[in-house]
Amino acid sequence: MKKVPELFGCKVFNEAVMKERLPKDVFKSLKKTRETGVALDPIVANIVASAMKDWAVNNGATHYTHWFQPMTGITAEKHDSFIAPSADGRVIMEFSGKELIKGEPDASSFPSGGLRATFEARGYTAWDPTSDAFIKDNTLCIPTAFCSYTGEILDKKTPLLRSMDAISNQAVRVLKLFGKDVQRVTTTVGPEQEYFLIDKADYAKRPDLILTGRTLFGARPPKGQELEDHYFGSIRPRVKAFMEDLNTSLWELGIYAKTEHNEVAPCQHELAPIFSTTNIAADHNQLTMEILRKTAEKHGFACLLHEKPFEGVNGSGKHNNWSISTDTGENLLEPGKTPASNAQFLLFLTAVIKAVDEYQDLLRISVATAGNDHRLGANEAPPAIVSMYIGDELQAVVDELVEGTPRQAAQTGELDVGVNAIPNIPKDNSDRNRTSPFAFTGNKFEFRMPGSSLNISCVNIMLNTAVAEELRLFADELEGADDFGAALRSLVRREIKAHRRILFNGNGYGADWPQEAEKRGLLNLRSTPEALPYYTAQKNLELFARHGVYTESEMRSRQEIALEEYCKTLHIEALTSLDMLQKLILPAGFSYAKDLAEGISMKKQLGVQAQAETESLQKVSSLLDTLYAQAGAIGGAVDALPEEGPQAQASYYHDSVIPAMDAARKTADALELCMGKKYWPMPSYSDILFYV
Ligand code: ADP
Ligand code: MG
Repeated sequence: MKKVPELFGCKVFNEAVMKERLPKDVFKSLKKTRETGVALDPIVANIVASAMKDWAVNNGATHYTHWFQPMTGITAEKHDSFIAPSADGRVIMEFSGKELIKGEPDASSFPSGGLRATFEARGYTAWDPTSDAFIKDNTLCIPTAFCSYTGEILDKKTPLLRSMDAISNQAVRVLKLFGKDVQRVTTTVGPEQEYFLIDKADYAKRPDLILTGRTLFGARPPKGQELEDHYFGSIRPRVKAFMEDLNTSLWELGIYAKTEHNEVAPCQHELAPIFSTTNIAADHNQLTMEILRKTAEKHGFACLLHEKPFEGVNGSGKHNNWSISTDTGENLLEPGKTPASNAQFLLFLTAVIKAVDEYQDLLRISVATAGNDHRLGANEAPPAIVSMYIGDELQAVVDELVEGTPRQAAQTGELDVGVNAIPNIPKDNSDRNRTSPFAFTGNKFEFRMPGSSLNISCVNIMLNTAVAEELRLFADELEGADDFGAALRSLVRREIKAHRRILFNGNGYGADWPQEAEKRGLLNLRSTPEALPYYTAQKNLELFARHGVYTESEMRSRQEIALEEYCKTLHIEALTSLDMLQKLILPAGFSYAKDLAEGISMKKQLGVQAQAETESLQKVSSLLDTLYAQAGAIGGAVDALPEEGPQAQASYYHDSVIPAMDAARKTADALELCMGKKYWPMPSYSDILFYV
């Protein structure tokens, strides 16, 4: 195996390769495009395309694709080969600047939420030069944005890039007030990814895992995660081999895979990369999920990225570690050492506090999916209530600001918000409050609500834009102030006082928290259908329009897509559930009952009592009767779907279809527990979770 530094990024057309392969002026002009977003000259684009193609072909590529992130949540690609016929009947490998910059995939089969009529099927993809092209499976992949022909966005990347511009523009304004000459501010993200790894053979025998990504049936095993012997435990050799292979593939693609360990649940693992610029982190996380799945296949595993593959066992999340930093290398969420840098830190902190409070609904929506509904609010993941944890040290500072007698700023001529110095906040990765959805961890915030399969773009679009809005308001106010120091002090004090309700340092899993949260007026949106109507609240439409991130029609289309996705997921789950009951579970129960009955009658003929069998048969028969009726009820619930709009349908799935599935599951799980092992038609939780 190559050494890691040689391996790292060897499949990426990164800056080092660009520098080596491009004429100096072309390199310079491309670098400028990457850093400032100015359009690339078509002549330059041709030279870049040709160099990219030569490099890719040298590295074994035969095809290229525009790689994009449509609203399906996964990535899409359509492969074209580089070949072009030459006059002598042979082929040459060709790739033009035009092909690099723009693609025209047929967009009709991607969700558009009513934005694009099918007769206008064309969409186009546009190169994102800030994210490096890479080679995957002999194909040169060019990261792109995806729009309809009329310019409406159809993907997750474009609004993310727009939200990054929005926060940059406003943060630069604020920093100017502190005398800082900064050109660009970027948000950074390090997404920690949880997943399950199970044996492929078990996976193949479970239609629920294959079709829905989670188990729809399965009684709790005698042993679960209660011994906590898996967390950070030593890694199974088979899994170790998988992880080594995974790391190699990720490193080749320039993905900074850093930490891996076992998680709390049996078979659950986590992978954390080193953080990077948000759009790159989002691209890399999408790639990471794909490579997790593929590498698992190679090693005889199935990788489950579902938020809750097993009931009664912890689900999987994706922690979105988020911060803001300048092009001069300053992390704006790092508390300062001097009163002046403290003042700046407190202003940015205040912006985040205000943003999380005012846009709780958007943060909740950004993680709302049918799968994640199983996690949020269960005793393992943060509750569905958005709140913020800033730690005892910062809380004390904030309390002093709001409640203390306003201390006069020291007469040093330095900027000072008038609180005692911010104590050194330890950067503790042991998660001091694991129950908080949005926790300050020393120099960044960790948003813990996202589910494991989520595309992190949406979360960061919400965060970036909401914080951009608060920074805009702050800049408006402070730019006009006669005495900047005094205006800053009063702004921070006023806003923290107004939004302090979002700060909660207690136990987010506690039974009393929902009541307390209600008293504070915080939202508690328990399910996806309950959360999604807030998407198009007037304040949210205004927010995104003001910062040029989404138009109103784009927002409405996204809301509709999310509702449809919820309905489709539940529809598939209900049908799978019904199918498994009719084809596997009920027939298995019938055979067991038949064998019992035959055994009983044979014993009786010989004059032997058959009390155990008789009681078992009675129990099984009664469960089967109940289950048969419950299967019918699932079918009935699906058939009675109301016809009016996606919101009503989503609520119907939540209120009527889920309870029907839950009821049948309860009976089926009870049946599993009282049936002979050889009769049960699929691997049990014990079989799946405790393989060797
Ligand atoms: P540490 O950074 O000390 O390892 P954690 O283990 O809590 O702390 O880090 C978890 C994740 O947070 C990692 O993916 C890490 O790269 C990321 N992270 C660290 N600093 C930042 C930052 N400034 N912005 C975004 N993510 C960050
Ligand atoms: Mg963490």
